[in-house]
Amino acid sequence: MKILVLNCGSSSIKYQLFDMKEKTVLAKGLAQRVGLAGSTIDFRKGDDGKKAVFEAEILDHKIGIQKIFELLTNKETGVLGSLNEVDAVGHRIVHGGDKFSASVLITQEVKDAIKECIVFAPLHNPPNLKGVEAVEEILPNVKQVAVFDTSFHQTMKPEAYIYGIPYMFYEKHRIRRYGFHGTSHRYVAGRAAEMLGKPLEELKLITVHLGNGASVAAIDKGKSMDTSMGHTPLEGLVMGTRCGDIDPALILHIMKEYELTVSEMDNLLNKHSGVLGISQESSDLRDLEEDWPNKSEKANLALDVYSHRIKKYIGAYMAVLNGCDAVVWTAGVGENSPIVRSIVHKNMDWFGIKLDLEKNEVTWRGAEGDITTPDSKVKVLVIPTNEELVIAQDTMEIVSN
Ligand code: ADP
Repeated sequence: MKILVLNCGSSSIKYQLFDMKEKTVLAKGLAQRVGLAGSTIDFRKGDDGKKAVFEAEILDHKIGIQKIFELLTNKETGVLGSLNEVDAVGHRIVHGGDKFSASVLITQEVKDAIKECIVFAPLHNPPNLKGVEAVEEILPNVKQVAVFDTSFHQTMKPEAYIYGIPYMFYEKHRIRRYGFHGTSHRYVAGRAAEMLGKPLEELKLITVHLGNGASVAAIDKGKSMDTSMGHTPLEGLVMGTRCGDIDPALILHIMKEYELTVSEMDNLLNKHSGVLGISQESSDLRDLEEDWPNKSEKANLALDVYSHRIKKYIGAYMAVLNGCDAVVWTAGVGENSPIVRSIVHKNMDWFGIKLDLEKNEVTWRGAEGDITTPDSKVKVLVIPTNEELVIAQDTMEIVSN
């Protein structure tokens, strides 16, 4: 069975074609600057083939997906004889609200529900939906599946997802904590169980996903009990450019003092805060880590604030879970930053965590590993995430039934 996985963002389309029988990636790539001048599309055969980049006029998502299909079926360089070989398409859909607690086959009803959730994710759900509709037009007979970032966290209990504001906002507008990165938290939790040689149902895990956006999840017996992102992906950890948790009164204070509009404040909290805002240098951890700790005071401070917030959430989630078998690090920073991992896990021996500094130092760039000493009661694992694989697996399961 061949499954195409699509992640349609506002100006980009990530794609990956899987052969589920052989368990291989046939091709993958990214269309960039969709709807803008200077768009490009790249194509790579297999999981790590050489990347070919093409300039292309990609006016909208439909044209982008058409180009992807052309590359996949190209007679000389493609990997498919014809589009008939695509058995199903799986889509990453960011927000499913509280309507979806699992992945689903896309029907008109599902599309309507995704539309209803646009209010929660105005930047993400519309392009996600455009991708679904484009495939529908190009390949009307192919089944499509929606895999939501939010659905994994639907197991949270009300005490974890209700905000301390008048209940009417929840009843009338479904304002509550939803959480994101669910596909990644779910994947690494499953892999952690395999690495620990125990059923997921017997484990308490804390998963730390640190990409451009970042979140932590408390997972008990494979179910999300709490997570740091909330109604939107702004809550929780200090991120590259997002502030994470702050005193809500500050928002009012800053808006008043600087006479900012709602959209200016939104911009400040989402695009100019976090590591970038504190360091005044960069949102990319790689820049702050180069020559660390011999960096500017602000750059070092940004890294410390970033790491402290992660430590705080790990501690909080140990309390939520009443213990923890393993902390799992994943995504760009989690997989590749021994520095952040060592700052966070310093002085956590009281919690039963003893990092093996040497293993921590050498575990990065796509490698899985346990970075604790043999006598560490709580294990710390590094596991590269693979959200596309989860989407492909869910899609296969749903269309096969
Ligand atoms: P996204 O959230 O967009 O999927 P990724 O999971 O790829 O992003 O993470 C991107 C981030 O990972 C970058 O902003 C960068 O800060 C961080 N990163 C990547 N490589 C390294 C590295 N070697 N050391 C530290 N941070 C890294």
